[in-house]
Amino acid sequence: MNNIEFSKETIHCQNMIGGNWEPGNGEKVDVYSPYNGKVVGEFKCSTKDEVNKAIDIAKTASKTWGNTPLKERTQVMFSFRDILLRDIDKISNMVSLESGKTLSEAKAGVLKGIEVLEFALSVQNLDQGGKMEVSRGVYCEFRREALGVVASITPFNFPAMVPMWTIPIAIVLGNSYVWKPSEKTPLTATLVANALKEAGLPDGVLTILNGKAETVNAIIDHKDVKAVGFVGSSKIAKIVYQRATNLGKRALCLGGAKNHIVLLPDATPEMAGVGIADSFTGCAGQRCMAASVLLAVGDTEKQITAIKERALNTTCGDKMGALITKEQYDFLNTAIDEAVNEGATLLLDGRKQTLTNKNYEGGYWLGPTILDNVKPNSKASKQELFGPILSIVRVKNISDAMEIENANEYGNACSVFTNNGAMAEMVATKAKAGMVGINIGVPVPREPFSFGGINESKFGFGDITGANSLNFWSDIKKVTTKWTMQNDHNWMS
Ligand code: NAD
Repeated sequence: MNNIEFSKETIHCQNMIGGNWEPGNGEKVDVYSPYNGKVVGEFKCSTKDEVNKAIDIAKTASKTWGNTPLKERTQVMFSFRDILLRDIDKISNMVSLESGKTLSEAKAGVLKGIEVLEFALSVQNLDQGGKMEVSRGVYCEFRREALGVVASITPFNFPAMVPMWTIPIAIVLGNSYVWKPSEKTPLTATLVANALKEAGLPDGVLTILNGKAETVNAIIDHKDVKAVGFVGSSKIAKIVYQRATNLGKRALCLGGAKNHIVLLPDATPEMAGVGIADSFTGCAGQRCMAASVLLAVGDTEKQITAIKERALNTTCGDKMGALITKEQYDFLNTAIDEAVNEGATLLLDGRKQTLTNKNYEGGYWLGPTILDNVKPNSKASKQELFGPILSIVRVKNISDAMEIENANEYGNACSVFTNNGAMAEMVATKAKAGMVGINIGVPVPREPFSFGGINESKFGFGDITGANSLNFWSDIKKVTTKWTMQNDHNWMS
């Protein structure tokens, strides 16, 4: 892995309102790099007055933008794609700097965001609406219309990718987009916004408002915000969903996860080793699709040895990134001790891993950790930990495995590693998860297959990307037309 570049000066992060960068007037917040624990940026939270002013400007911009033909709106996104690809190293470095990801993970996230952007480019060709003669001389048609101002609240763990799940689609559909980035990772937003400005997006169509809960509440409560997209923890997803829907607004709020992998004795050890180890260590386990619980069915020693070997080679600061905060390190440290006190065996203790790169001292580093013989009802088995920790629960058969998977309150992802097609199909059918993987450790669907979980992993209807997201970011008007009087009347005439 190449080393990340630290900025020589503190980055002063601002709001983007009406195409201009303006500082907020609220509480000052420091932004730390998980790589060395030092302050790399700062911003001031947006006050209610600033939120109101920004949304008024966004509303005015939405009128012109919403009336711009879809094909013209899409042209901006073509340029946006070119600029993102041109600047991908700079953007990836910023993602790494503030979120702790490795550079290759950061780059992969930007590329995944670009894939969603490419889906948005295809809306002009795919979404032709529909028109038919429903009675003699009477025509019904669908027309997709922009909502006006829409909002998006994003988490720390993918500062570019998660916002890019929604920015291209919501904007191509003609909306003005108000974005509240995570207060832990607000720096990348500046680069994304500058890229959109350079691509020719009219001022006011993208707004960035930095802040915390108060800023989010002011955005949701503004009468002109018509839809609220949210990605983050389930606790906050539920709060945001309830606040928005109580006001009669549409909301799609993606939450946390506790993803299970069912490992069968016939799985190819090498494939399981790489797929499962990379799933729980990738992004230092800080992704909602990370493997968290391994349901090891029967004798799976060969596969577990392969997972452990791969994890042992996943060294911090080199192949694996850092945790977001010191608090998160402390939380995981305690969670490991609690699991051991509850009877789990420490197969691999990431707290013992030494950091080889001196530049990254002071950062929040935890190496891959494997807990074996975890009890199904323990915290390590049920609660989202959000770190590079794999909890192995030993089970006798696949039915017991599915019972544990199904009892889990979340519903983002579930995978199975096997060479038996019938068993794989059984897991795919029975898993209570929105996204299933067969011999895939991180079963993120590629576009246009849409991203989204079920149960406590998602509040609201539809998915956040792909074809299933179009109806969230737009209204469908039904127009019925007649131009000539017919002699043979019916109720439709
Ligand atoms: P978080 O819920 O703490 O914060 C997410 C956003 O909500 C931030 O912008 C934050 O400022 C805002 N927020 C925090 N408290 C709020 C409040 N009381 N009211 C209104 N807004 C508030 O999440 P995080 O720690 O940034 O991200 C990690 C979580 O996100 C994990 O649980 C992870 O599983 C989840 N996640 C889910 C998905 C998915 O697609 N399901 C994707 C990425 C991350």
